[in-house]
Amino acid sequence: MVRAQSRTGQCMKTIIEPFRIKTVEPIRMTTREERQHLLAAAAYNLFALKSDDVLIDLLTDSGTSAMSTAQVAALVSGDESYAGSPSFFRFESAVKNLFPFKHVLPTHQGRAAEAILFSVLGGKGKNVPSNTHFDTTRANIEASGAEGFDLVIAEGLDPRNEHPFKGNMDVARLDAFLAKHGDSVPCVMLTVTNNAGGGQPVSLENIRATAAVAHKHGKPFIIDGCRFAENAYFIKLREKGQQNRKVEDIVREMFQNADGMTMSAKKDAFANIGGWLALNDDVLAQSARERLILTEGFPTYGGLAGRDLDAIAQGLKEIIDEDYLAYRLRTSAYIAERLEALGVPTVRPSGGHAIFVDARAFLPHIPPLQYPGHALAAALYLEGGIRSCEIGTVMFGMQSDGHEQAAPMDLVRMAMPRRVYTQSHADYVVEVFEEIAAEKDRLRGLKIVWQPQRMRHFSAKFEPLR
Ligand SMILES: *Cc1c(COP(=O)(O)O)cnc(C)c1O
Repeated sequence: MVRAQSRTGQCMKTIIEPFRIKTVEPIRMTTREERQHLLAAAAYNLFALKSDDVLIDLLTDSGTSAMSTAQVAALVSGDESYAGSPSFFRFESAVKNLFPFKHVLPTHQGRAAEAILFSVLGGKGKNVPSNTHFDTTRANIEASGAEGFDLVIAEGLDPRNEHPFKGNMDVARLDAFLAKHGDSVPCVMLTVTNNAGGGQPVSLENIRATAAVAHKHGKPFIIDGCRFAENAYFIKLREKGQQNRKVEDIVREMFQNADGMTMSAKKDAFANIGGWLALNDDVLAQSARERLILTEGFPTYGGLAGRDLDAIAQGLKEIIDEDYLAYRLRTSAYIAERLEALGVPTVRPSGGHAIFVDARAFLPHIPPLQYPGHALAAALYLEGGIRSCEIGTVMFGMQSDGHEQAAPMDLVRMAMPRRVYTQSHADYVVEVFEEIAAEKDRLRGLKIVWQPQRMRHFSAKFEPLR
């Protein structure tokens, strides 16, 4: 925990944000009545709101981080030369300092790195196992004609289970999978932290074991490293024998086991845009670089401006700061603990970047096909101007044959932008839940009155049920 020390060496009780604020962005206040109109005008879809009409925006932690003074300064020193810019070399050396890979290809964001990787490794008949593929990873695997498989441990699928590393790969299942599918597997992937599974970490021991199984079968091992720093700090807090190590050393060891990585710098690099693909294999890297030039840009800028490369280089130095990481993980845990105390069930233990509320358990009177997660997300906006995201039957309920069924869970995700909100914002979120919890039996579900063919959660129109 982030606690300043007193004169006697005792930890102070108040946890503080380890930064002070130099530039501010005003929040436009709205009344409940205004929000009622805005919500109706958005057809009860929070993606259709203007962000100026949101008080606390917890839609995503992606690209929403606050930059530091050093990052803003780095933007100014960004060099926009087409080829061989010093910004690229600063970026490359910051990446290689933490991730010891031979080739680093900048991309405009994480999914571009995935698209390039699977344009080289994917294809019809290929099978790609992971703990849990993130949705863009799965989409890029499938777009290449290949298939993705999620082999997370059983505890990772149980929302109340307190296992410290619920993102772990089920290594025995992976071994059996590789024995069975052999030649059709181009690589083994592992997402740290496991975003789709609730931001749950993977242990160092599990990373080593996953690498060993992949290598035993002769497969390259690629880490989706989007939240590498949060994962490393969970290892420091929770894994036996790791307590006295520096986070950056844990990061290096995590990635020493791998043959490559994909990364979204919009997550654990404090950048508003960016990503990369890193690889050790020369032949693979050459094919990827050719693809990069075709779809992103010259290899010393990828899809980015020089200033973005510099912001990432500086962000990577800041993200491994342990005072920041302690504050970061404590923020999610603090909100989750206070929600649990109000009787609001959350996915346990709290993950790194987000709090996941179990809306189906919280609102048992709303059946899944009346979207309890969406009903709660709409109520959070109406009562408090908070924007969250349903991860449940609206997002996953529509089947490819056109019929609808309940998703495995109906969750509401509140993702925390990095370094953006303070403790009083967190307390405000809790207070809004308190209001909702007091009247929760009066919340009603919704029906969908219009929806597109695919990815309906982004644009479906709803009406509340009376
Ligand atoms: C965000 C994310 C991606 C995709 O990155 P983008 O920058 O949004 O394209 C891939 N994997 C994980 C785990 C992510 O969280």
